[in-house]
Amino acid sequence: EKMQEVVSGEEKILVLVRLRPLSEKEIARNEVSDWECINETSILFRNSLQERSMFPMAYTFDGVFSGDCSTRKVYEEGVKEIALSVVSGVNSSIFAYGQTSSGKTYTMIGITEYAVADIYEYMQRHVERAFVLKFSAIEIYNEAIRDLLSTDSLPLRVLDDPEKGTVVEKITEVTLRDWGHLKELLSICEAQRKIGETSLNETSSRSHQILRLTIESSACEFLGKDNSTTLAASVNFVDLAGSERASQALSVGARLKEGCHINRSLLTLGTVIRKLSKGRHGHVNYRDSKLTRILQPCLGGNARTAIICTLSPARSHVEQSRNTLLFATCAK
Ligand code: ADP
Ligand code: MG
Repeated sequence: EKMQEVVSGEEKILVLVRLRPLSEKEIARNEVSDWECINETSILFRNSLQERSMFPMAYTFDGVFSGDCSTRKVYEEGVKEIALSVVSGVNSSIFAYGQTSSGKTYTMIGITEYAVADIYEYMQRHVERAFVLKFSAIEIYNEAIRDLLSTDSLPLRVLDDPEKGTVVEKITEVTLRDWGHLKELLSICEAQRKIGETSLNETSSRSHQILRLTIESSACEFLGKDNSTTLAASVNFVDLAGSERASQALSVGARLKEGCHINRSLLTLGTVIRKLSKGRHGHVNYRDSKLTRILQPCLGGNARTAIICTLSPARSHVEQSRNTLLFATCAK
């Protein structure tokens, strides 16, 4: 309940931090964790070796989840309300941000499934409305857009449609039959992403994945005249490229074309989010990257946004964890 208060302010971006547990491999090589979740909103860095550090030691966010928290808990307490706003016609986006191996995909897969299950449950309880669910899935790699539901590997173009706004041309949009149908599509996406991974060398850590669920609903005809209340909105589940690329690009300059492009979307997202978190005065540069162009209607304005920043607890990852928390702090 506390968190719902926090997000009720329209302009607020909800910023959550999730620490994953040390993996078996990390434990086997005697890694230790320097991070401790001290309460539901604060995470503490406690390493006596790093006393000279200029970084703050405790960081506070809208919600902090320790290594023993389930994805169910992150979903219920953190993002459920934002994900379900789609049924009332409100657009939303839920992001996972963090370095490779910090738990972005693990977190987003669970959250997507819980959210869709709840959306189905909502529809069953509201027989007075007729719902149509549509699903699409894309990957952005090097500023090229690939349709994860198509075997055609040609990049898709982003166009400005005078009526619909920004659209991805020729994107596969599947009308869902039921929950099982969606599960099927999710595994196709995962497989597609894996194919990319082997052919393009670790693509998944360098690409952004956007799963979009669009819900249209209208009052059922048998209940009478009021058909005017047609609602349509989308919820986006966004598994971002590993954030280590962004910090690398910042530190060594845009050396490689790839680095430059991958990070254009990630860096632009950062700039857009910082602007939005400050109350979005002035120009917001959505058009500077494919990711932000595609997400524009679901980011800012009346849309709801949550960012889950995932952290590895390992000492060897401490620099990346700090970068992630700096990003999270700027997004608040
Ligand atoms: P990323 O997508 O950020 O690269 P992954 O989601 O693939 O990271 O996670 C890396 C590994 O850690 C995977 O094996 C995953 O199952 C595991 N993992 C991530 N987060 C958790 C968690 N909260 N609890 C248990 N295991 C996790
Ligand atoms: Mg991943």
